[in-house]
Amino acid sequence: MIRLIQLMSIFIFISCGMVEPPHVVQREDPYFKESDSYFDSYKNDFSYNYYLYTGKDISTNIPVNFSEEIFFKDNPNSIGVCFSRGSKGIEILIKKSHWKNLSRSCRKTLMYHEFGHCLLNQDHRDSYPSIMNSNNKHCDLMSSHKNNFFEEFYLRTRDSIIYLRSLF
Ligand SMILES: [Zn+2]
Repeated sequence: MIRLIQLMSIFIFISCGMVEPPHVVQREDPYFKESDSYFDSYKNDFSYNYYLYTGKDISTNIPVNFSEEIFFKDNPNSIGVCFSRGSKGIEILIKKSHWKNLSRSCRKTLMYHEFGHCLLNQDHRDSYPSIMNSNNKHCDLMSSHKNNFFEEFYLRTRDSIIYLRSLF
C-alpha cells in the first residue's frame, strides 16, 4: 500500500522544469555558489557512467542544492530544475520535501534527468519511459533496466529506444 501511494505520488508530482533564457530568473549571482556535498555521489555516478558509455570525461562542477522556496514555490508541480544562465553558469535545485518520498531509483533518475538538461543539453523525451521523460512515472524501471536507460540517455541508440518503447 505504501508502495502504491509512493508510485501514485511520483506520477502526480514528478515533473521537471528547465529554465532557459529569457525565462531565467534575472539575478547577477547564482542562488548557491557551492554544491551540497550530499549530491557528490550522484555527480560521481553520473560522470563514471558517462565515461563508461561515451569514453569521455565530463566535469560535474555544478552547484546542486536542495530548496523549498526558490522556483518550487511558484512551480509546485516541479521537483527538480536546471537553471541555465549561459556564461553565468548552470545550477540544479531539488525540492527537498519531495525528495524524501522518492525511491532510491527515482532519486537517481531525477538527478540524471537534471544532469541531462544542464550538462548534456538534453531535451525532454516524453513518448517513452526515458530518463528525459518529463513526467517520470517510470523511474522505478531504472533499477531493473539500467543498461537500456543509460544507453538511450547517453547514446540514444535505436535499439534502446525501441526497447524502452516496449516497456509501455
Ligand atoms: Zn526536465
